[in-house]
Amino acid sequence: MSPINLAIVGVGKIVRDQHLPSIAANPDFKLIATASRHGTVDGIESFTAIEDMLKAVPAIDAVSLCMPPQYRYEAAHKALSAGKHVFLEKPPGATLSEVADLEDLAKSKGVSLFASWHSRYAPAVEAAKSFLGSTKINSVHVIWKEDVRHWHPNQEWIWQAGGLGVFDPGINALSIVTHILPKAIFLTGATLEFPENRDAPIAADLHFKNADDLPIHAEFDWRQTGKQSWDIVAETDAGQMVLADGGAKLTINGELKSSEPEQEYPSLYRRFAEIVKAGTSDVDLAPLRHVADAFMLGRRKFVEAFHD
Ligand code: NAP
Repeated sequence: MSPINLAIVGVGKIVRDQHLPSIAANPDFKLIATASRHGTVDGIESFTAIEDMLKAVPAIDAVSLCMPPQYRYEAAHKALSAGKHVFLEKPPGATLSEVADLEDLAKSKGVSLFASWHSRYAPAVEAAKSFLGSTKINSVHVIWKEDVRHWHPNQEWIWQAGGLGVFDPGINALSIVTHILPKAIFLTGATLEFPENRDAPIAADLHFKNADDLPIHAEFDWRQTGKQSWDIVAETDAGQMVLADGGAKLTINGELKSSEPEQEYPSLYRRFAEIVKAGTSDVDLAPLRHVADAFMLGRRKFVEAFHD
């Protein structure tokens, strides 16, 4: 089968760090065009607007949308309307309703829509899921604390409404938690801390439970300097499980069970090829729904102004 002719929209940090090497290593894809106001890729035909690209390059089969979430819907609507398969970076959109609209459009056009959650493909996530499925879970503690100045320098969009603030990394934790826990969870209380000069939170403290009253506590914080934490700890009848380093490393009762090299974006592109070939979509909105619930139910606290 000939490769899927792919275009990328929004050539920035994640495209250079992850999408380009993963696409180059996957024979199912051939990058043939980009659309970005400033960014280009060496040797690839480039445009500054998606509509010009779609008109000029009819051979495009699929489009990866990698701009900030507040600007994704318009581009996705244009690509799906033109009959292209669409890969959405995480989070899939700025609202739940706009992504639902895209799902309907993809269905009516007979093309695939992929709401990607890269952290679900971290190497130890499946092992954690099968461990948790084999025992009784008594509590879960999520600690996702990183230094925003290090990871998101000069990203203004992330502090604007719809940019999600600390939920931009926090939603990665939620994408793992919603995948590895056997039952659906829901928010019972939250406190969101907003810098007084920003429209998105710098920290969030979240409490969830499930139908069996399993307590799940999540702490997201962007003010962490020194050691960074991306850990999920579960106390179970079979002992303590620690899924550390963003899903890369699994220990049970202190014994290392899994620590493989990271393959998140290569796995995402394998999955995208799979759904395109199968003629299906993969859109799980659970992580985004929990973030929306936090904005709906959370207490709002104003904290010290944040300056880069
Ligand atoms: P970024 O570099 O700040 O933005 C990506 C590109 O989007 C920019 O280079 C810009 O390209 C375009 N863009 C920016 N503002 C825009 C606007 N107002 N309208 C249209 N296009 C705009 O961000 P990123 O770090 O790559 O993140 C992009 C997405 O990937 C986010 O949803 C993020 O959550 C996700 N992601 C990021 C990482 C990471 O490590 N950075 C990891 C996983 C997922 P032009 O100026 O050329 O148009």
